[in-house]
Amino acid sequence: MGRVYNFSAGPAVLPEEVLKEAADEMLDYKGTGMSVMEMSHRSKAYQAIIDEAEADLRDLMNIPDNYKVLFLQGGASQQFAMIPMNLLKNKKAAYIVTGQWAKKAYQEAKIYGEAVEVASSADKTFSYIPDCSDLDIPEDADYVYICENNTIYGTKYKTLPNTKGKILVSDVSSCFLSEPVDVTKYGVIYGGVQKNIGPAGVVIVIIREDLITEDTLPGTPTMLKYKTHADNGSMYNTPPCYGIYICGKVFKWIKKQGGLAAMKERNEKKAKILYDFLDQSELFKGTVRKEDRSLMNVPFVTGNEELDAKFVKEAKEAGFENLKGHRTVGGMRASIYNAMPIEGVEKLVEFMKEFEKNNK
Ligand SMILES: *Cc1c(COP(=O)(O)O)cnc(C)c1O
Repeated sequence: MGRVYNFSAGPAVLPEEVLKEAADEMLDYKGTGMSVMEMSHRSKAYQAIIDEAEADLRDLMNIPDNYKVLFLQGGASQQFAMIPMNLLKNKKAAYIVTGQWAKKAYQEAKIYGEAVEVASSADKTFSYIPDCSDLDIPEDADYVYICENNTIYGTKYKTLPNTKGKILVSDVSSCFLSEPVDVTKYGVIYGGVQKNIGPAGVVIVIIREDLITEDTLPGTPTMLKYKTHADNGSMYNTPPCYGIYICGKVFKWIKKQGGLAAMKERNEKKAKILYDFLDQSELFKGTVRKEDRSLMNVPFVTGNEELDAKFVKEAKEAGFENLKGHRTVGGMRASIYNAMPIEGVEKLVEFMKEFEKNNK
């Protein structure tokens, strides 16, 4: 059996070239006679892998010198706690709730201090991004928190919120490296890598140096202090070695594609094929307000649950995997991350046209 078109929201499709390269190096990484999985993280060979991964990421995102790049574990969800534990000084933070992941972060923050919901799009099932140009942000808030691309609902911030001078913290799990980003606008950018970069478990945290301090909440475990990891080059303990190695390969793959500007162009082209079809279809409908549409996650429905189920089943039989929408939303969702080839989207649309013709 060959490879399918995998529209999974995460863990998700990775570039075939990267997987093949990893396969080639599986038994003997560059003459070391061992797999990267078997290698000491204190070895020269591994140090070169993590150093190169960091350098390539810095290059791709144009990360300024006063930001640290940390490769951590626990997935994106671990950051829901780590952020308040490390950044709360006044014990207050502002959260913009645009979906389940933002909500989980907001609820977690409440354990550690006063988390204030300053905006939400829950009233319309998170199908839009609220106007964040003039929010009521508490004077003494330590930061403003957003989830920049909402994986489940398919929305994306096209302009960042006006934080009124507060530090911006952003979960970019599902839009990581999908387009150029101005790192200087953020205090912390972080994301789980399993959506657009690599194997689940690794989370990358890009954090401004002055936010890394000893002054964490009392009781913060050593492993959950940014300082611990920053002081030790992400090697305080054994890092997720193999995962970081794959991330490094994906960084190189993106550079080879032309970097983030080229990725953006490609992603816009891919998303347009699908959205243009949805906008003229008499059967399928996108569920998100047009101006807030994500380039990465595209939810859609037929309006009939039985027909949705039929579509998902027939699509799977035709080689289009994981098109079922999130269990809380229903319908369908096509996640079209960096590594989804343009033909995958073209063929999906052809299949949808055929399905529409047969099910009118
Ligand atoms: C998937 C996802 C998460 C959760 O990631 P884990 O690594 O499973 O903790 C958090 N935020 C966003 C935006 C996601 O897409």
